[in-house]
Amino acid sequence: MQSLLGEEADRFAHVVATFDRVRRLFGFKRVELPVLEPTAVFARSLGETTDVVSKEMYSFEDRSGDSVTLRPEFTAGIARAFLTEGWQQFTPLKVATHGPAFRYERPQKGRFRQFHQLDAEILGAGEPQADVEVLCFADQLLRELGLGDTVVCKLNTLGDPATRSAWRDALHGHFAAHRADLSEDSRDRLDRNPVRILDSKAHQDWPIVDSAPVIDDYLTSEASDFFAAVTSGLDAAGVRWERAPRLVRGLDYYRHTAFEFVTDALGAQGTVLAGGRYDGLIEALGGPHTPAIGWAAGIERLSMMIDAPAVEAPLAVIVPMGTAAEQAGVRILAELRRSGITADMGLRGNMKKRMARAASSGAAHVIILGETEVESGTAQVKDLATGEQRAVAFDMLHAALSA
Ligand code: ATP
Ligand code: MG
Repeated sequence: MQSLLGEEADRFAHVVATFDRVRRLFGFKRVELPVLEPTAVFARSLGETTDVVSKEMYSFEDRSGDSVTLRPEFTAGIARAFLTEGWQQFTPLKVATHGPAFRYERPQKGRFRQFHQLDAEILGAGEPQADVEVLCFADQLLRELGLGDTVVCKLNTLGDPATRSAWRDALHGHFAAHRADLSEDSRDRLDRNPVRILDSKAHQDWPIVDSAPVIDDYLTSEASDFFAAVTSGLDAAGVRWERAPRLVRGLDYYRHTAFEFVTDALGAQGTVLAGGRYDGLIEALGGPHTPAIGWAAGIERLSMMIDAPAVEAPLAVIVPMGTAAEQAGVRILAELRRSGITADMGLRGNMKKRMARAASSGAAHVIILGETEVESGTAQVKDLATGEQRAVAFDMLHAALSA
């Protein structure tokens, strides 16, 4: 779990601000969700056999003995709120949020136990246009972060339930034939959920995964039409994508479109954004059939990749010398800030120290206030770029600095 200051915190904030700007462009409503949910919300949504539920959740009993869990992701909580808060009346509902998520994982570069996600979902939309919409949102976010060329969209379809069960049987046959060479984790998954072996992180599984049957041979014509509509929409919108016929998602609730935006700039933790269609989830939680699609992105991973955002420097720093000047400085500072000028005041050390500190803050101007200045109601304003200095009446400071 990280604590951030300075440039790292600025990068984080820049990712969030960019997300929020693009969210508005796309008309996704902001939602806020609890960090804590009943454990059942995640266990039922994500599937008991997934890594997240079986190994990674921060779950505990609260004082009344109820099992609660710190959210490991957003989608399950959004689906829960959709049902318990009456959001069903607003479908199709485009929502977005961001905040902390928790997974008990082995910490490493780009992998934390408290991390932060951006999240976007469309609930109650079964049309392939909804898939195109969320993918365009993801694509534009990454472009605006300057990552358009470093991150690639890998796209697959997991088909409809008929497709998936036929493919699952084929995968089971293939992996069973290689049972002895599979990693322990994958042998474990073989009978419970062979599809997830495709997502294995164990190197010894990779050659077996590479020769596994691909979904295309099992796609029903409905599933293949749906996927064609998604890809032609992406092409029309100018979103670049690559087919990844063995891409699956770690969680059980996905159908049809599945995608990951990946980079090779972050080593093993190369997935920055991932998601897909989860038409069966809300029904599995006891609600009506509600097709839906969405994605989540790791803020830390995105922050590590972007250029450092420009440092936010004050436009002016006031350097007062003496008690009367400090008084006047407090008033001027308040007035400048009320008129929208970023300003600060230096109160420590001698004149030289204060001037040096003002310069190193990146300020454009220093407003010098001494006894004479207070008496005449005129400050000395020094332009730190040119070194030029001029007298400006107190009530003209705002105008002079804005010019
Ligand atoms: P990974 O394969 O890296 O474990 P995942 O498939 O578990 O990722 P998702 O559940 O799809 O991840 O979460 C979406 C995004 O959240 C990931 O693509 C990643 O950017 C980020 N993320 C997931 N887990 C972590 C973590 N422990 N620390 C930092 N970021 C994370
Ligand atoms: Mg994971």
